[in-house]
Amino acid sequence: MTSDATEASLNVPHPRPRLLIVDDQPLNIRLLNQVFQADCEVFVATSGEDALKFCEDQLPDMILLDVVMPGLDGYEVCRRLKRDPRTREIPVVFVTSQSDTAEEEDGLAAGAVDFIAKSASANVMRARINTLMTLKRQNDLLRSMARIDVLTGLANRRHFDEKLDAEWHRCGRSGTPLALILIDLDHFKLFNDHYGHQAGDACLQQVAACLKAEFTRSHDLVARYGGEEFVCVLPETPLAGAEAKAHSIEGAVRGLRIAHDKTQVPGGIVTISLGVAAGVPAIGGDSASLILSADRSLYLAKGAGRGQVKTLHAYGVRPVSPPAALGADQP
Ligand code: GH3
Ligand code: MG
Ligand code: MG
Repeated sequence: MTSDATEASLNVPHPRPRLLIVDDQPLNIRLLNQVFQADCEVFVATSGEDALKFCEDQLPDMILLDVVMPGLDGYEVCRRLKRDPRTREIPVVFVTSQSDTAEEEDGLAAGAVDFIAKSASANVMRARINTLMTLKRQNDLLRSMARIDVLTGLANRRHFDEKLDAEWHRCGRSGTPLALILIDLDHFKLFNDHYGHQAGDACLQQVAACLKAEFTRSHDLVARYGGEEFVCVLPETPLAGAEAKAHSIEGAVRGLRIAHDKTQVPGGIVTISLGVAAGVPAIGGDSASLILSADRSLYLAKGAGRGQVKTLHAYGVRPVSPPAALGADQP
């Protein structure tokens, strides 16, 4: 579930299920590893603290958690995993030494999906974990499909909303700038009217692939915003950096040289207009202010003749550069 440019952020599952085994007894770890190593990529942690640390870096598909451990016990580890939005969806299965109803109730209340007894046979353990693992991965797949735009394969509007919200808070906390680029195809209604809707769809796919190729940084996201509009989220990017990226995108789409006989932009090819906005998210501010500013920039780009980039420092957002630089591009 980690976020990456365009692909990893779409939650493509790892080819082998990743299982984290947490137990303070090396012997138990060895036994469980033997049971699961054929089906899963197995990771181990010997304390609750280490398990949480592991999950900060990489997310397993499932966690087998010992209840009784020195330091953080299994219940507390489970509660902490369920409190964190990044790790909330990882199913936790408690491995217990004896079956005890009260213990099971406590584990379920802490957020576990199931229990297995340490005394269970290897076949029983494998069967139960495989069933849970299949459900988990089907769930991941559905979740990732619900975040992909069917026509272009890019992130969809829902995914964009989630990403913007997360980055707004992350950049706000770290005091780093967040930039948006809004992109709109020029005279696209005329394109559809002239070449037909199917050719219009193919054009959108070509432009989407071109946009995707422009983004290589792991935290950037490019999404279909709706219709013939796209949006790029660029965390930790000041206005000047986002503007340079927008110019590069504008040139790349021109470089596709898709014929557009009816466009009113000189050149007779498909062009895009781009609105850029950036700023450091203000505490208590609203990410809608960033979208609004990018939208206003886009409007300026359209008004100035299309096929170009316009920029604005975002409203309701702290300026990135010293105040003297503010307003250079304000209307
Ligand atoms: P402007 O340069 O001002 O943006 O003009 P425009 O014609 O691109 O803008 P307008 O908003 O008038 O029209 C957008 C058009 O985009 C309308 C619709 O035909 C087309 N469009 C939106 N979504 C899709 C889609 O999924 N497939 C296709 N083929 N066309 C689409
Ligand atoms: Mg539009
Ligand atoms: Mg348009």
